[in-house]
Amino acid sequence: MSALIIDGKAAAAELREEVTREVALLEEAPGLATLLVGDDPASEIYVRNKRRLCVKAGMRDLHRHLPAEISQVELAEIIDELNADPAVTGILLQLPLPKHLDAVDLLARIDPDKDVDGLTETSAGRLASGVTGLRPCTPAGVMRLLDRAGVPLAGANAVVVGRSNLVGRPQAQLLLQRDATVTICHRYTRDLPVICRRADVLIAAAGVRHLIGRDAIKPGATVIDVGIHRTETGLCGDVDTAAVLDVAGAITPVPGGVGPMTIAMLLWNTVEAARLRTAA
Ligand code: ADP
Repeated sequence: MSALIIDGKAAAAELREEVTREVALLEEAPGLATLLVGDDPASEIYVRNKRRLCVKAGMRDLHRHLPAEISQVELAEIIDELNADPAVTGILLQLPLPKHLDAVDLLARIDPDKDVDGLTETSAGRLASGVTGLRPCTPAGVMRLLDRAGVPLAGANAVVVGRSNLVGRPQAQLLLQRDATVTICHRYTRDLPVICRRADVLIAAAGVRHLIGRDAIKPGATVIDVGIHRTETGLCGDVDTAAVLDVAGAITPVPGGVGPMTIAMLLWNTVEAARLRTAA
């Protein structure tokens, strides 16, 4: 039997519609301030997409494009301004920043209640302590996909491959919050396939092309592939999809799996930030 293909495009479209409905219920349209520093072409494309979908969902686009030469102090002042501005619901600092800027310091400056990327230390602390807060978009998108596919999580063995602040760590926390038994693997893990083979739910977020092969899959497992790699023949993930298709129970394709969920979750977080503010 071939694995069920989890359709991230459809899930993202659904989530964006949900966001549009939620925005219409709010008294005031939320505003998303995307900060783009310099002219990195890939970042420009990402930010353009975020802005386009933000407007499409009925929210205000409060984008700021800043020169590559901007100083740490000037950028910090702009973040302070956005923190204080009631029209700004969410702030997104597009990474990477030019080399002379300290991203960690600047991220830490973002008001955690406006941290729609969920990447500040305060947001990470809120997640780790299991209190309300804004969650990082990619792992939150993965949770949506799992729920939409009806994958049981309580008591399930979940293995997360990767421990980055962007994906692996928050992913493990989110799964733990849902009562999964969570194992985190990283580059020092021994016998990776043996550990992965215990997983009912396997999340691959190592940034290594085709790291996960057939020998790493428990029959019937749900496999979520967060990796994305550009090759001569197109995009592929951390999972050797073709090799595991007839072992896995369900799998996300690359492209069209986790990727489309990330921006949709960013929009959802912006609505969530608006709601959290109203509740405060
Ligand atoms: P991302 O942001 O997509 O999570 P990073 O490059 O920041 O990617 O992080 C990669 C993570 O994957 C690290 O935590 C690293 O320990 C893990 N990793 C890298 N190579 C391997 C490997 N061969 N086996 C297991 N884990 C790995």
